[in-house]
Amino acid sequence: MSDCLFCRILAKEIPSRKVHEDELTYAFHDVNPQAPTHVLIVPRKHLAGVAEMDKTDESLCGALLFRAKEIADSLGLTSYRLVFNSGAEAGQSVFHLHLHLLGGRRMKWPPG
Ligand code: 5GP
Ligand code: ZN
Repeated sequence: MSDCLFCRILAKEIPSRKVHEDELTYAFHDVNPQAPTHVLIVPRKHLAGVAEMDKTDESLCGALLFRAKEIADSLGLTSYRLVFNSGAEAGQSVFHLHLHLLGGRRMKWPPG
């Protein structure tokens, strides 16, 4: 999708600070970090968001979550938050599925 920001990052048309990549996923530092560690894990396949996943994406969803855990381990994070914003009202601003990995500071609950 040429008009999708994260597809353009995946295509290396827009630079990003890579954390991890494999055949299914790509992870990079958020350009506007909300915590000392703020990594985005995205599928290479374009999906607009959680709401657009179907049954065939079930294993991809598991891969995103497991990559997040592996990245957190590799960065030495023992406490962290994983977030999917689904829909504009929930804070989603980029409509390519992504998982936020946030850590390195104490986080409030519930979120605002
Ligand atoms: P959302 O608000 O959709 O859940 O999260 C989108 C995230 O993408 C935001 O945290 C925002 O800072 C990040 N972001 C937006 N544009 C860019 C960019 O060009 N590069 C990187 N690395 N992150 C971006
Ligand atoms: Zn995309």
